[in-house]
Amino acid sequence: MSCENLLEVQNLCQYFPVTKGTFKRKIGDVKAVDHVSLAVRKGETLGIVGESGCGKTTMGRCIVRLNKPTGGHICFRGEDGELQDIFKLNKQDSFRLRKKIQIVFQDPYASLNPAKNIFTAFDEPLKLHGVSSREKRYAIASGMMETVNLSPRYLERYPHEFSGGQRQRICIAKALAMNPELIVCDEPVSALDVSIQAQIMNLMRRLQKEYNLTYLFIAHDLSVVKYMSDRIAVMYLGKIVELAESTEIVENCEHPYTKALMSAVPIPKLGAKKEKILLTGDVPSPLNPPSGCRFHPRCSQCMEICREKEPELREISGRPGHYCACHLVGHTE
Ligand code: SF4
Repeated sequence: MSCENLLEVQNLCQYFPVTKGTFKRKIGDVKAVDHVSLAVRKGETLGIVGESGCGKTTMGRCIVRLNKPTGGHICFRGEDGELQDIFKLNKQDSFRLRKKIQIVFQDPYASLNPAKNIFTAFDEPLKLHGVSSREKRYAIASGMMETVNLSPRYLERYPHEFSGGQRQRICIAKALAMNPELIVCDEPVSALDVSIQAQIMNLMRRLQKEYNLTYLFIAHDLSVVKYMSDRIAVMYLGKIVELAESTEIVENCEHPYTKALMSAVPIPKLGAKKEKILLTGDVPSPLNPPSGCRFHPRCSQCMEICREKEPELREISGRPGHYCACHLVGHTE
């Protein structure tokens, strides 16, 4: 893994306006992603974990330009080695970037057209990106199917003829056919059985090495993210609350929310027990987030200051690379 950042997200905001009445008067914003900054290093897997509705998928969709952010910047390292804002590219660079950043969705069935055979899923984007010969497109698609351990004969079949795991392999192969640098994996194994999850994750790890890929791996299951990621960012209600190397998060997490998530991860050892931290209450509405620290209504260690002042995400003193947004934690000045 290189130390060079392939992607930088700076102060990203994605607000969705909420309207009311006949005249659609705006009454507020759902702040799905609120001033998020992070960097993804070339060759690493950065895991994003958090409960449903925390904004992780919305951020992923902004990175692949399926959503236009309300504010902030998303910069990707272009062919000239410079970081460029992906929403300010000219038409030609914008078209080229589409190949470089691919996405794998949670539901592989929804990402494939049920009325068309599997080859079509490869054929259309390859044609669009200038592979003019059908033989060549077929050869690329066959090669990619073999890479994900599926027979090229399956290219003639239709999506309903495959299992969930096979469909997800096809979606991964389809993304790889574009020769991407970054793949945003949005809950890629959440819809699969546990045994199939392991196969897909091992496949993705192998492909990462073979194709020198960088992953942004989004999931709600911390044990899955832990297995896949070099570093983990924990999101809560549109904000990153903790970010560190995976082992550091697992062994020495500091944020009370991360501790609660960690306590829910089962220990794969017979008879092993650990104390579960149960979070009370639901995740508050992003339309009207709590004042100060957004986690304070559910935090057992809440103090006076937590209700008034929002904690910043800062590096913990003496723990390089470990960032936490909590008033309990001492930060590097
Ligand atoms: Fe809990 Fe306060 Fe830390 Fe928020 S800032 S997580 S409320 S201790």
